[in-house]
Amino acid sequence: MRHYHIWTVGCQMNKADSERMGAALEQLGLSAVDEPADADVVVLNSCVVRQNAEDRVVGMLTSLKPWKQSHPDRTIALMGCMVGPQQDGLRKQFPYVDTFMRPQQFDSLIRIVAEKQGVDPEGCVGPLVPGHPRVTIFVPISHGCDKFCTFCIIPYRRGRDVSRPFDDLVDECKMLAARGVKEVTLLGQNVDSYGHDLPGKPDLADLLTAIHERVPELSRIRFLTSHPNDMSQRIIEAVARLPRVMEFINLPFQAGDDMVLANMRRGYTNAQYRELVGRIRATIPNVAMVTDLIVGFPGETEEQFERTLELVRDLRFDKVHGAAYSVRPGTIAARQLPDDVPQAEKERRLRAVEALQERILSEINAGYFGTTQEVLVDGHHRGRWQGRTRTDKLVFIESDEDLAGRLVSVRITKTSPWSLQGRLARSAEPVSTG
Ligand code: SF4
Repeated sequence: MRHYHIWTVGCQMNKADSERMGAALEQLGLSAVDEPADADVVVLNSCVVRQNAEDRVVGMLTSLKPWKQSHPDRTIALMGCMVGPQQDGLRKQFPYVDTFMRPQQFDSLIRIVAEKQGVDPEGCVGPLVPGHPRVTIFVPISHGCDKFCTFCIIPYRRGRDVSRPFDDLVDECKMLAARGVKEVTLLGQNVDSYGHDLPGKPDLADLLTAIHERVPELSRIRFLTSHPNDMSQRIIEAVARLPRVMEFINLPFQAGDDMVLANMRRGYTNAQYRELVGRIRATIPNVAMVTDLIVGFPGETEEQFERTLELVRDLRFDKVHGAAYSVRPGTIAARQLPDDVPQAEKERRLRAVEALQERILSEINAGYFGTTQEVLVDGHHRGRWQGRTRTDKLVFIESDEDLAGRLVSVRITKTSPWSLQGRLARSAEPVSTG
């Protein structure tokens, strides 16, 4: 048994879990391959937040069936949000899958692989930190969610909101920086509720400050996703105060209408959300704001949808992740609220959001033209370097120099709604602050 392949669908939390699973498999002596067909162990990291994500996982599982049946010594593991506390249904539907693992519960696959490798997992598997990480990496700081929004399956699959120990996280960031990581993104379903369950109740502001002070090798620190009700003034001020914490806040609003927000059980109103965004913008100069929203939630009228559009128009986000509502069996909405907005209408509303956001983004990004931006280069694609600004804008750079993993100043020469282009700045071109 020598090779593994991890296939991941879904959110950044899944990507982080896949990296940690990969770290464990590498400590057991396996190496990654790009194609599942070349692997001895295939791990599918699943998502059930929307029906189409779940359909893709089922499609992958189905296509792996002959691969497994022709070589029963191969291993298939299913992990992530598709695996709930009860697994009998999954076992019956996919009897050829060797193990089912709930989010962050990697032990059963570690045991199977260790046994096949003839090693003791206790002695082999240490901290789940990738041996050769990329220059930017996700670090989960909490797992699960206590909010129970009516549309969301996550609290049922990932469990209650549990924070990882404070010092472990600082040590993990130190270890990652020593392995060449330049940027960490601290992850949680509600990252801004971090620490509520820890002794002494340290909060996200304390954690950002500790990582900033104790891991100076890191060039950048980000965090996501925030819940409006947990975004404290202390956290906002920490972002403004700490220069290596990026001015970037991901704050889903989900719907613009107060009745829809109440039906979603989001716990805030349109006016409260606007006030919070105003306060964030007043405290953190040039902050980039990103949001998530759902169109076509049960009962959403045209007039109520207009309030969502109005919020997008007024608040001018740097990115909007829009989704058409899809029923998730087991949620409160699935049990209590009929899915009464026709699919075609949901899609029309989504297109209206996307068209408006494209216009806003082309205006926002045009403001970068001629400025000089600090860019962390994290890849090379089709002959161009690519990286991100402090505000998370994607930048393509034409250069013959080796820029891999470098923090460089880039003069922006072209903009579009989706990306920026530029060249390395000359020393006389000072870096813009926004
Ligand atoms: S805050 Fe709401 S949408 Fe976010 S993970 Fe928790 S239940 Fe789901």
